[in-house]
Formats: sequence, structure tokens, C-alpha cells
Amino acid sequence: MDILQLQQDIIDYSKEIGIDKIGFASPSPFSEMKSRLIHQQELQYQSGFEEQDIEKRVRPDLIFDHPQSIIAIAVAYPSKMKVRVVSKKGERRGIFCRASWGEDYHHILRRKLKLLEEYIAAKVPEAKFKSMVDTGELVDRAVAERAGIGWSGKNCSIITPEFGSYVYLGEMITNLPFKPDSPMEDQCGSCTKCLDACPTGALVQGGQLNSQRCIAFLTQTKGFLPEEFREKIGNRLYGCDSCQTACPVNKGKDFHFHAETEPDAELAKPLLKPILHISNREFKEKFGPVSGSWRGKKPIQRNAVIALGHFKDETAVPDLIKVLTEDPRPVLRGTAAWSLAKIGGAEAITALEKSAEVEKDDEVLSEIRTGLSLFR
Ligand code: SF4
Ligand code: SF4
Repeated sequence: MDILQLQQDIIDYSKEIGIDKIGFASPSPFSEMKSRLIHQQELQYQSGFEEQDIEKRVRPDLIFDHPQSIIAIAVAYPSKMKVRVVSKKGERRGIFCRASWGEDYHHILRRKLKLLEEYIAAKVPEAKFKSMVDTGELVDRAVAERAGIGWSGKNCSIITPEFGSYVYLGEMITNLPFKPDSPMEDQCGSCTKCLDACPTGALVQGGQLNSQRCIAFLTQTKGFLPEEFREKIGNRLYGCDSCQTACPVNKGKDFHFHAETEPDAELAKPLLKPILHISNREFKEKFGPVSGSWRGKKPIQRNAVIALGHFKDETAVPDLIKVLTEDPRPVLRGTAAWSLAKIGGAEAITALEKSAEVEKDDEVLSEIRTGLSLFR
């Protein structure tokens, strides 16, 4: 087997199947990352969604028998909508982050990695693979960085010179000894635009993220959102792009290479009020295909309630009162109380007063009382 020829064939084939960038990395332990991950864990800066066993995150040999190399791939996604929503006056909409536009990227990348596996297996029957996208043990960004896909920006994204940070990442551990690419030089320089743009101070310093303050993470939680973040989340229903849109490298980067990454504007920027009362079935049918729905409808509904309060949308008061008085979930009722208090007006205050008399849940009651105290 001529490994260099195979490597070139894989590079050529990757272009045919819509992989926009490919790189090769050594499977040696990511020792440089280990102490950083331990430190993050000690500081409780992690989201909790990641693999908890740090050894597995940094040691490919613990999750694959005799790894010889890792193939990293990147697929570019758009940053602007070709077809925009046509909003009527007064209609309020939420927003899903760009990485959740189009079909769930996990599916897109897994299909491409599968094609790559089949291509390699046809040429080298003894080849073995372990492919992963986002939910695997390895840190996608660390692999991409080592494979020369891009540099690790101060905003904690991988930044490619070609597509900016608007790329989905995936990787494949193999038992084939491909020649590793060289990591790219850090090109952030003295820029701090992403740190300055972060609404919550989640970027503690360049390249260090406190996930517990990051809106991208907070939009995915299911409990009450701490008060200090409710205003800052704005109308974001899922994810946050502020540290990407602020990045000068991303300026003008908007690639529409793949039909499946094109957003349906009505899903990417949905009307807020209908979300409050959406059934499980409707939610699954409508939002199921996008990655932002992976935590179910509850966080999206909670965020929609917050967004209506953020907009002080008076036309939403009857919908929010319905949530406050009828929704079986305390998080939704309590957040509706906050939102009604933000909007204010006689109808909202009366509803809060009535609810204060019948509400049994302590947290919801506390939200109602805090809301009412604003008017006294
Ligand atoms: Fe800050 Fe948003 Fe970036 Fe998180 S995603 S670090 S909240 S700008
Ligand atoms: Fe780097 Fe500036 Fe982009 Fe932040 S905004 S990732 S510092 S280039």
C-alpha cells in the first residue's frame, strides 16, 4: 500500500463528497490539553455535556486499538440567509444560531465520514475506523487544530482562513499511518473583538471559556435561567453567535456549498408566540430536523418566554398568562411570571396577583412575588 498515494486519493475524494477541508493528525496523546481540561473541571467551567473522563478525551489509544492517525474534516456552513423571513409589523421572532440552521450537522458529517470510511475500506480492506462528530470522546477542536484545519481562536472556535469559524468539525481515528499535517499559526494577534463582544463575560480570557456563563450553553439548560442572564439572552432560542459575528476573520464569509446546510428561515427565525403552545408532536415535526432541538421543546419554550419579555411584547400578554396559569411545568410558569412583569400593564399585574393566590410551587411563587414587587 502506498500510503502517500492513498492519502492524496482521500484528499481528492473528500472534495467530491463535499468535505471542504481535510487534514491529518498524529494520534499521540493530547497531553498539552490535559492540564487545561483538569483546570476547567476544577473551576467548574465545563458545560457537563462533554465526556467526563478526561483521559478518554486526551488519549486516542484508550478508545481505539493501536491508532495510527486521525483524519479531521470540516464542512462550511452559511452565515447569512438567502431567503429571509417576511415579518409583519409587530411580529416578534426568536433566533437559532447559525450552526443550527439547515439539517442537523451531526447527520451531515456522519454521512460524509461514512462515505470516507467506505472509500478507504474499498482500497484497504484491513482498515479500521472510529468516526465521531461533537458527541465523541475526543475534542473536535483539538483534533482540527492539530490537523491544520485552522487555528484555535480566542473565541474558542477553530478559525479557518478560507471559511472563518463557520465550519462543522468531525474526525475519524484510523489504523493507517497517514502523514500528519502541521498545525496552523495562531492569527488572532492582539485582537480582542470576540472578548469585547461577549455579552456575559463567558470568555474569561482568550481561549478560555466559562460554559456556565456562555449563552450557547445556557440556552440548552432546562431549569430556571439565573436572573442575571435573562436580559442578556435577548431573543436567542438556541445558541449564540456574538463571538463569531464579531470576529474580523468571519467578515464576508458566507458559503452556500451544501443544500442541506441552507436554513429554512421560518425555523431559523421562528415566530415566538406559537412556540409557547406547541405540542410535542408539532415540535418534533417542525424542529426535529435541526440540531438546536436536541434538548427537546422545554428550553426553547422557556427562551421564547424570555424573548417576549425582552421585547416587552404587549400582544403576548394573553399567551403568557395562559402559560402562567395552565402550563404544568414550574420553569415555564415562573419564567412567564418574569416576562409578564417585564411587560407590565394592568392585565399582566392582575394575572400575577391572581396566580400569587393559587400557585403552589415555591420557585414559581418567588418569581411571581419578585415580579409584583417591581410594581409596588
Ligand atoms: Fe459569549 Fe455568546 Fe461566545 Fe458564549 S457564544 S462566549 S456567550 S459571545
Ligand atoms: Fe481571534 Fe479576534 Fe477572531 Fe477573537 S475576534 S477569534 S481574537 S481574530
